[in-house]
Amino acid sequence: MRYPENWIGSVRVSKPKIVCISLWKGGVGKTTTAVNLSAGLAMAGKKVLVIDDDPQANATIALLPKSTEILNSTRSLYFQGALQNATYPSVVLGLDIVPATMDLATVELEITSKIGRERLLKKALKCDFAKQYDYIIIDTPPLLGSIVINALSAADELLIPVKGFYSLEGINQFLDVIESVRENVNPNLKIGSVLLTMYDDHLLINRDIKKKVKEVFGERVLNTTIPPNIRLDEAPSYNQAIFSYDSESKGAQAYKQLTEELLSWWEV
Ligand code: ATP
Ligand code: MG
Repeated sequence: MRYPENWIGSVRVSKPKIVCISLWKGGVGKTTTAVNLSAGLAMAGKKVLVIDDDPQANATIALLPKSTEILNSTRSLYFQGALQNATYPSVVLGLDIVPATMDLATVELEITSKIGRERLLKKALKCDFAKQYDYIIIDTPPLLGSIVINALSAADELLIPVKGFYSLEGINQFLDVIESVRENVNPNLKIGSVLLTMYDDHLLINRDIKKKVKEVFGERVLNTTIPPNIRLDEAPSYNQAIFSYDSESKGAQAYKQLTEELLSWWEV
């Protein structure tokens, strides 16, 4: 018997797995996680694509070689541009990137009258070129506009980074939006994992945060937590992921552990 596409033997493999890293709060570690998880997955031998879906372009600054001339960016994916024309090798072997440029910000306004405006990114990722990747990781801006909705619509699952109590403020509205995306555009979207970032286990206040986050998200909370580590903050300005910048750092160890934990969830 022949199995359809996306099957190996009798096992269905959904490839690529598309993971959106999102929370509408700013500065919670979305980009740091997108950059270093992607690099970790690539180092584990996976073929990975990062899509920088944030006009701040922080993931691009960290991962795109400085000498790259950007001809097409994430913006083009919203206007029927082909994925392969906007994909560039990153500074990490096995990791490619679709870079963001500042003009991604105007997409919000430009697509308001387009039919199917929530599905533009999803459509761009549904192509043969994307099938070479095991994982596509999408970094998003700290708001809830069209480009975030597009990322949520394109994703199989969501990774939510949480930094302190402040990140949980308004979480119910964020969860309502996810529910609405599920009902209207992407019924398969699930909250895959929740990651505590800049989390110092030694501080009592943080243990309360962990308890609270577990009350909200239960077993989706990862065992791995990311400690505050200055090397993680420094690496992007040297155009590097943490593993080449300082492989011995606590930050590198934590993101390696995160990669391993997620692979154990994803590749059972
Ligand atoms: P935005 O919402 O603006 O896109 P973000 O959620 O993507 O922010 P990051 O840019 O990843 O958050 O992190 C915010 C700041 O904190 C950055 O300067 C980053 O370098 C720093 N940072 C992130 N994680 C850590 C960490 N574990 N230890 C120390 N600094 C960190
Ligand atoms: Mg960011």
